[in-house]
Amino acid sequence: MTLSIQDALASVTSRIRAAEMAAARPSGSVRLLAVSKTFPAEAVREAYACGQRAFGENYVQELTGKATGLADLPELEWHFIGPLQSNKTRAVAETAHWVHSVERLKIAERLSAQRPEHLPPLQVCVQVNVSGESSKSGCTLAEAPALAQAVARLPQLVLRGLMCIPDPAAPAEELARQFAGLQQLHARLEADGLELDTLSMGMSADLESAIAHGSTCVRVGTAIFGARHYPVA
Ligand SMILES: *Cc1c(COP(=O)(O)O)cnc(C)c1O
Repeated sequence: MTLSIQDALASVTSRIRAAEMAAARPSGSVRLLAVSKTFPAEAVREAYACGQRAFGENYVQELTGKATGLADLPELEWHFIGPLQSNKTRAVAETAHWVHSVERLKIAERLSAQRPEHLPPLQVCVQVNVSGESSKSGCTLAEAPALAQAVARLPQLVLRGLMCIPDPAAPAEELARQFAGLQQLHARLEADGLELDTLSMGMSADLESAIAHGSTCVRVGTAIFGARHYPVA
C-alpha cells in the first residue's frame, strides 16, 4: 500500500514527535527536510500544499529545474544535500537557501564568492564522514574543527552546524555510535566558540536514533515520497 503524500507527511511527523518525546526533547525541536530528489515538481507542490516548506535535493540540475518550475511558491526553501563539484557551485549559490554538504574549504569559498549580493547569506553545514570509510563523502572528524572555523569566517555564508550520512548497512549500535560522534563534535565546536544550532542527521530508516542523539533536522525522502527509481538523468 502506498500512502498519499499527505498521509506520509503526517506519519513521519508523528514519528518525529514521538522520538522527541522519547528523548525528553521539546516538541518541535526537530525540523523535517523533505528529500524530493528523483521526484517531479508536482510531488513537491503537493507536499507544499500540506504545509511542508523545506525540500532537499542532491543533484544540481534537478535543484535548478524544480526551483524554476516552482518559483510561484513563496515560502519554498531549498536545501542542497548532495556532493558538490566546484564547476557546479554557482548554480547552487544562486538557487539554494542551505547547503548541508560542505566538505572542503575550496567549495565553501566558491559558494561565498558566488552568492548573489541581493540574497541573504547561504546557510551551510559541514559534512563529516562519521563512518570513517574512505569511499564516503565528508571531511574527517579530525579535519572538521579547522574547516568549520574557516567556513564560519566566509562573508556570504552562515555556518549553522554539521551533517552526516552514516553507513546505512551498519547495525543499530554502530549507527548510534556514529550519530553520537557527530553530536560530540558539535558540542566541542560550540565549546570552541562557534555558534551552531543545527545537527543534520537521520533519514527514513534511522530518524529515531538520530533524534535520540540530538538531531535538529532529519532528511526524509522514501518515507514521504516512496521508493526512488534510479538512475536519474
Ligand atoms: C537521499 C538522501 C536522503 C533521504 O534518504 P531516505 O532514506 O530516502 O529518507 C537523506 N540525506 C541525503 C544526503 C540523501 O542523499
